[in-house]
Amino acid sequence: MNIMKNNFYVYEIKEKTTDKVVYVGQTTQPSIRYLTHFAPSGKFDRNLHYMNILENEWIFNNKKDARKYEDILQEYYGFETELQKRRKRIVDLLSPKNKRGGKKRAQDAFKKQCIELECPHCHEKGIGRIMYRWHFHKCKYK
Ligand SMILES: [Zn+2]
Repeated sequence: MNIMKNNFYVYEIKEKTTDKVVYVGQTTQPSIRYLTHFAPSGKFDRNLHYMNILENEWIFNNKKDARKYEDILQEYYGFETELQKRRKRIVDLLSPKNKRGGKKRAQDAFKKQCIELECPHCHEKGIGRIMYRWHFHKCKYK
């Protein structure tokens, strides 16, 4: 694969024996990210895992899209997504224990993160979980 500068790559870390995806990330420099993940202090062991850089519609020219599709894959594989982490923070804002929170602040935070998703296969757009059910890896035009 020809790695180009300023492109954003979405990648998976997979188990060698089962091909099970254990991690999803995005980066502009896959080879450097590889070294970080597979360093002795890193999370993964190069004898057990490998990095799979996704191609074609999973390569982006901006970070916003790369993060959006990183989220999509994380959700697909059942990992906690960046979006879910942000949602948790919104729920925390509603907690009576949070003195600086409250409904208004939570609503503002929620509005900010209702990102529209577009399926890379059929280009249908939508907001929310229903998109994951019928599109992306499961899209009939894939
Ligand atoms: Zn689709």
